[in-house]
Amino acid sequence: MSATLIDGKSFAAKVREKVAVQVARLKDEHGVTPGLAVVLVGEDPASEVYVRNKGRQTLEAGMNSFEHKLPAETTEADLLDLIGRLNRDPAVHGILVQLPLPDHLDSDLVINSIDPAKDVDGFHVSNVGLLATGQKAMVPCTPLGCLMMLRDLYGSLSGLDAVVVGRSNIVGKPMAQLLLRDSCTVTIAHSRTKDLPAVCRRADILVAAVGRPGMIPGDWIRPGAAVIDVGINRIEHDGTRRLVGDVDFDSARHVAGAITPVPGGVGPMTIACLLANTLTACCRANGLCEPQ
Ligand code: NDP
Repeated sequence: MSATLIDGKSFAAKVREKVAVQVARLKDEHGVTPGLAVVLVGEDPASEVYVRNKGRQTLEAGMNSFEHKLPAETTEADLLDLIGRLNRDPAVHGILVQLPLPDHLDSDLVINSIDPAKDVDGFHVSNVGLLATGQKAMVPCTPLGCLMMLRDLYGSLSGLDAVVVGRSNIVGKPMAQLLLRDSCTVTIAHSRTKDLPAVCRRADILVAAVGRPGMIPGDWIRPGAAVIDVGINRIEHDGTRRLVGDVDFDSARHVAGAITPVPGGVGPMTIACLLANTLTACCRANGLCEPQ
């Protein structure tokens, strides 16, 4: 058996196209252009690549992109001051502070200083609370992208057993909340989980968000399960550097019913959902109907 490949790249391209059409309509009918501000502190090479890609795709969708690159030694007061200005700027509908921040900056404090209505990453404590209580929230982009691919695959997720490996605030926990909202029976596993292979084998939907290359082999996967591999790990293989997920793709693809590759699975969906969230934030800020 060979699993169906879930093609995040083409799925994301469709989401971006749809966003671009809606952005064009917003401009034509209401004279409003959605704007996304991305703040990068320091010179982390991976973060610089992400920020560049976000800026490019924001412009391609017809939105305004505002990039703020600050030196690594930026003080908390200066960063909070910038966020305050972006909060007040009517041309900015979405604000994203690229994580991780340098150690001397308090990430929670910084994220919670963003206006929740502009918090397109969905990490502000208000949005976390709204999501957890089933209210209208800004939903974190990576889990939202995973959910979209799962809904596309299954239609309804109701009653399915979902196991999320990883309990971070940015992936694992919001992923679990979204799956619960769609009426899955959800288990969250982490580094202290007993008998992780047995827990994973229960899953109709297995989401891996750990950050350990190839940690989940095929024999941890229930035959026919949908496997969503969030992990992005850089490894050296035969003298070349490449990206791999948390799932051992070669063994998993013979067991799973469907699987996301790395790269080309979850990754492209994250930026597409960021654009979709920025469009939503812009519509809400202007009292317009939200895009479906
Ligand atoms: P974190 O390091 O914040 O969280 C990792 C989680 O994995 C923790 O909950 C940890 O458990 C758990 N874990 C670690 N080791 C084990 C183990 N041996 N068995 C079971 N659980 C374990 O990572 P993130 O959530 O930020 O990211 C996870 C992965 O997803 C990374 O590879 C990251 O690069 C990738 N990522 C990809 C994105 C995309 O766009 N595709 C976006 C964001 C992240 P504990 O809490 O007990 O320590």
